[in-house]
Amino acid sequence: MENNPDTTLVTQTAPIANETHGGRAKCLQRLVRLDLPVPRTVALSFKAVHKIGAGHLPDVQAVVAQFPKGALMCVRPSSEDPDWGGPGAVLNIGINDARFAELCETMGEGPAASLYTRFVQSYAVNVARLDPDMFDEIEGEGREALAESLRAYEAETEEAFPQDTATQLTAVLRSMARAWEGTSARLLRQAKGAPADAGLGLVVQEMVFGIGSGQCGSGVLQLVDSDTGLPQITGRYMCQSQGRDALHGDAGAMYLTRDPRGASLEEAVPEAFETLKTHAALMRARLRAEMQVEFVIDEGKVHILDGMRVPRSSRAAVRIAVALADEGIISREEALMRVQPRTLTELLHRQVDPSAKRDVIGHGIAASPGAATGKIVFSATEAQAAASRSEPCILVRRETSPEDIRGMHAAHAVLTERGGITSHAAVIGRGIGLPCVVGASNMTFNLVKKTITAPDGRVFAAGDEITVDGSAGEILAGAAKMQEAALDETFQRLMDWAEEAADIGIRANADTPADAQTARNFDAHGIGLCRTEHMFFEPGRLTVMREMIFAESGEDRRAVLERLLPMQRDDFTQLFRIMQGQPVCIRLFDPPLHEFLPADKAGQRELAEALDLPLSDVTRRIDALTEYNPMLGLRGVRLGVTVPEIYEMQARAIFEATIDASRDGDPVVPEIMIPLVSARREVELVKTAVDAIAAAVRNEGEADFTYRLGVMVETPRAALRAGEIAPHCSFLSFGTNDLTQMTYGLSRDDAGRFMSDYVQQGVFPEDPFHVLDVDGVGELLQLGAERGRAAQPGITLSICGEHGGNPESIAFCRAAGFDYVSCSPFRVPVARLAAAQLAILHKIG
Ligand code: PEP
Ligand code: MG
Repeated sequence: MENNPDTTLVTQTAPIANETHGGRAKCLQRLVRLDLPVPRTVALSFKAVHKIGAGHLPDVQAVVAQFPKGALMCVRPSSEDPDWGGPGAVLNIGINDARFAELCETMGEGPAASLYTRFVQSYAVNVARLDPDMFDEIEGEGREALAESLRAYEAETEEAFPQDTATQLTAVLRSMARAWEGTSARLLRQAKGAPADAGLGLVVQEMVFGIGSGQCGSGVLQLVDSDTGLPQITGRYMCQSQGRDALHGDAGAMYLTRDPRGASLEEAVPEAFETLKTHAALMRARLRAEMQVEFVIDEGKVHILDGMRVPRSSRAAVRIAVALADEGIISREEALMRVQPRTLTELLHRQVDPSAKRDVIGHGIAASPGAATGKIVFSATEAQAAASRSEPCILVRRETSPEDIRGMHAAHAVLTERGGITSHAAVIGRGIGLPCVVGASNMTFNLVKKTITAPDGRVFAAGDEITVDGSAGEILAGAAKMQEAALDETFQRLMDWAEEAADIGIRANADTPADAQTARNFDAHGIGLCRTEHMFFEPGRLTVMREMIFAESGEDRRAVLERLLPMQRDDFTQLFRIMQGQPVCIRLFDPPLHEFLPADKAGQRELAEALDLPLSDVTRRIDALTEYNPMLGLRGVRLGVTVPEIYEMQARAIFEATIDASRDGDPVVPEIMIPLVSARREVELVKTAVDAIAAAVRNEGEADFTYRLGVMVETPRAALRAGEIAPHCSFLSFGTNDLTQMTYGLSRDDAGRFMSDYVQQGVFPEDPFHVLDVDGVGELLQLGAERGRAAQPGITLSICGEHGGNPESIAFCRAAGFDYVSCSPFRVPVARLAAAQLAILHKIG
């Protein structure tokens, strides 16, 4: 038995591994090695459990034979990662009428009946799949409750309650194996990162009752607080109880340490409390993790049934990892490996400013922390469409299902009418760090009319702006004032260690001074992409911009651009000052001009008024600018070549800001990036123009500066021709949003309409706008990088599309030898930790 790889007695030397038997089995073996008082246990491997699910049983008699005659057993799940869950434990297997009679003699009728009743009810619900409500009517305790439970079982199943231990155990094992294979269990664990074929192990353990004469009971203990991660003995104990009864909030549960609110284990059984503390500290030091100890006290003696990683909030995860490293229990590198990059997202989320006025329009369950403002959308498809327009949205659903996952990724927050803290929206929301309020049942959701109505009668329709506060469980009208995430000292230390370990740079995509400040707060290594066009949408600038578009000649256009110049210069000076000492990569104007023109008649009339032109002139010009396919039309460098005055103004603004910002600090070395390049000549033309402006500004300002010119590789041709483009520039930055769009011939703005179908039918493994397509787009990245580097060794290579913050894409870029990735400011810590983990994994091979 000890060396049977499928059903293995847990001893110090038995062949048990996390990957074959699951975390619980492995942990129990470690506890055995520490000589802790662990009841006898047999571990069933993933393979054995999988076979049980398919109807092939192991030698169950041999398993039973491992335990003393007459012992009762429990079965608990043991998955590879405890977070993936598993079926609930079943206790007291092996009890039957005869054993009950014996136990009545040794422990008394009441406790014996309680053990048997518990098993009957749990068997009925978990194995025979009967409705748990059927036992609700049973009142009282002892022999009567037992008899009634047996009667109810037998009436419902039309069978006698099984008396044979092996039969009972077989049925429990089979039902647990099958529960793991069920669709909802699989979806739930996949949402927590489990692979599709994740296995389940089971442990069969001898029961220590926790019920009987003398000091008996059960409980859990841990040495830290799960929310804060700070040292604090936490848990509960309950006399005459089993399993996790003490945690269910029942009357009679005791505190562990002395507490003014009630009785404590420390006072009731001081020796056992001391023993437990010692065991817990030993487990922490030797298992090198904060553990939650599940224990039983039986006639005053402590038994350790299990040790689990302490459940923890994201904040606690960071604190625990840093504290263990500080105490030398684990290395700094291990601490870095222990924090999931994605969990940082939760820690980093923005919150509604506590001092802000809150116009509350609804309440629900605070299911996933952080807050976000956006326009209401009522379907996942609309959410994806909004995301492709870079429009923040709030996904409102009655409840969510796996089909909504892509929409949830696209949304800034989720609000559901139904659901609880473990419902789909809540689990997924927490998993991906998306603010989420579920069960907002005091609001009326009308999904046909696409409205939600507040209790006070106010109606909010699709497109209206609301704020979801996932930390408070509130929905607010409009855009609430936000507060950026708080960075505590332990988080900062972890980030510092990550900075030391990582070997790829992390920059931020930042368009505004606020974004840049966030990037700076997160110690980004500079700005990798500043999309300058966003600056022109600001009030006061849009009209000037439109005037520029309507200018009849280059000269007129230059005159209008003169008015935009100081505004751009100020924008850049601010960015340079905030990022002082760090590179700032400014992308020249990219979108088609028509994006700046009003689409409706009212807007066009206003424009005609502002420009003092007849309406017909305005509509004619707008018609003339209309393109069949603007994303593939006159935009990016094509505008730079055909309407050169815009780039000239921007280059001048950048250089004048460079001089300004360098006056009172480190010299600024701006980076200027040309978008949508597909031909070498485009780069030559823009470079000549920009060089000329640089020379002019140097002359006028009597100041010197340097700058770097680079190309944004976002057309397949630019990637393929990187060899001839690279000699004309200092860096190539891959814009994987457009590159994905053009590689697939798939519109970024329309893909949302059918992406779910495509992914569901397995056409694409993932939405390629979300997770980098390493096969196709990746091949272009690889080719572009190789050809660019061959033509100009030492050229800087980077990625600045949305994929830049995604851990899998970072792995790709790192392997391809890129210098940095650039991502949205809030993803910088996530990216940095992912980069550190990759470097550590690489180091340890
Ligand atoms: C890109 O295309 O990848 C990119 C970063 O630019 P934008 O999203 O502004 O088109
Ligand atoms: Mg682009």
